[in-house]
Amino acid sequence: MKYNEIGVFMDRDGTVSKEIGYVNHPARYELLPRTSLAIKRLNQKGIKAILATNQAGVARGYFEEEMIGRVHGKLEALLEADGAYLDEIYYCHHHPRVGEGKFKKDCNCRKPKTGMLDQGAEELDLDLKKSYMIGDKISDVEVGHKVGAKGILVLTGYGMGAYKEERDSWQVEPDYIAEDLLDAVEWILMDIEESEQDA
Ligand SMILES: [Mg+2]
Ligand SMILES: [Zn+2]
Repeated sequence: MKYNEIGVFMDRDGTVSKEIGYVNHPARYELLPRTSLAIKRLNQKGIKAILATNQAGVARGYFEEEMIGRVHGKLEALLEADGAYLDEIYYCHHHPRVGEGKFKKDCNCRKPKTGMLDQGAEELDLDLKKSYMIGDKISDVEVGHKVGAKGILVLTGYGMGAYKEERDSWQVEPDYIAEDLLDAVEWILMDIEESEQDA
């Protein structure tokens, strides 16, 4: 099987939207300033824009699973108003140690496990080795590297703290450290152009 497309996986809270703790209502959900512009750039280049978010608030009992859909409905509406869209949204509602029933699970999708990226590769025909993962935690970088993609840390959300306070304990090194999502996307577009020239 040959995979052809390039994908950019994006963490949600602190990367695409403001990190405000558990988003238990769409009213709390706000995009970061340059998010629509960043995603629009990917759309225009034919690069798959994919959300990959851990939402253990369901397992923790902070909100119902249905709330995730409502929040993502708002996310998509906000992007659409700016002429941008996501190709796919993946979320993990599990937690390995808390929750009840199907939510308490040592699943394969909770980052830094790779399930959401693997699923994206299958469903969107992605070449993960040519793909990218962007997030505000070093675990986002880690999950990217696990599948052979490049990992970018953004300094929005938890990123600044991760960079300034925790850098000595990082087990992985980001391929790029970006001011925000747009900066990350601009670096990616440059990186793709360079690798196409080398090819
Ligand atoms: Mg985050
Ligand atoms: Zn999961």
